Amino acid sequence: MTTCNFCGLAYVEDDADDRKIHADEHKKIANDVLPYKVRELIKAYDFAVAHNDG
Ligand SMILES: [Zn+2]
Repeated sequence: MTTCNFCGLAYVEDDADDRKIHADEHKKIANDVLPYKVRELIKAYDFAVAHNDG
């Protein structure tokens, strides 16, 4: 089991289905459908900016 540092998905490198799921995940990211964790990070960042600016 490997956890991807980019999308955070845990997948089995030797499993073709898992590799496909993982590849699809990266395609989604490429199409700007961000994974939940990244969206949360962006939300937290926007919140910090909104509350520290002005
Ligand atoms: Zn990945």
